[in-house]
Amino acid sequence: STTGTLEAHFMVIDASELLEEVYNGVLLIAEEREILLGRNDKASIYAEPGSVKQMLRIFIDNAIKYTPSGGYIYLSCEADEKQVCFKVQDTGIGIPKKDLERVFERFYRVDSSRTKETGGSGLGLSIAKYIAKGNNARLELTSELHKGTTVTAIFPRHYETKKDTDK
Ligand code: ATP
Repeated sequence: STTGTLEAHFMVIDASELLEEVYNGVLLIAEEREILLGRNDKASIYAEPGSVKQMLRIFIDNAIKYTPSGGYIYLSCEADEKQVCFKVQDTGIGIPKKDLERVFERFYRVDSSRTKETGGSGLGLSIAKYIAKGNNARLELTSELHKGTTVTAIFPRHYETKKDTDK
C-alpha cells in the first residue's frame, strides 16, 4: 500500500523548516500576484532586540521564581495576521486577582512572595512594562491563584517587503 511505502521513509522532521521550504517555493508566485504570504512559525516584529530579550527574561525569571519544583514553564510565540504574541506560561503560585493590576507598579510585590525567601525588588515587571511601551507592544497578564500565570507580550506584526530583503 502507499502508506506502507511512505512509512518506510519516515524521519524526524523540523516542522518549521519543512514549512519554510514550501513557503520559499511559492513566495515569488504570491508576490507576482501581489498576495501577502504569511506563516505563523516565522512572523516578524519591528523592535529593538536586546530590550525585547531582556523583557522576556524578566517574565521567565519570574516564572522560575514563583513555580515550585515539579511544575513546568512553557514558552511560545504565536502570530495571526495582525500581531505576534510571546507567551510565558507557568504552573506556579499564581497572583491574587486584587494584585493583578498592581504588580506592574514599581516596588510592588504580592504579600505571599514578600514573605518567601525568593528575593526580588518588585522592579522586574515595571521595567518590562516600560520596555513593552518603548517597543510598541502591550502586555497581558492572566493568573489563577495556586494554578499559574501567563504573561503575554503583544507586538504589531511586521511584514517584510521586497525592499527589506534587498538591503
Ligand atoms: P524582581 O524585581 O527581582 O523581578 P519581583 O519578582 O518581586 O522582583 P516583579 O517582577 O515586578 O518583581 O513582580 C512583581 C510581583 O508580581 C512579584 O513580587 C510577585 O508577587 C508577582 N509575580 C510576578 N510574576 C509572577 C509569576 N510568574 N507568578 C506568580 N507571581 C508573580
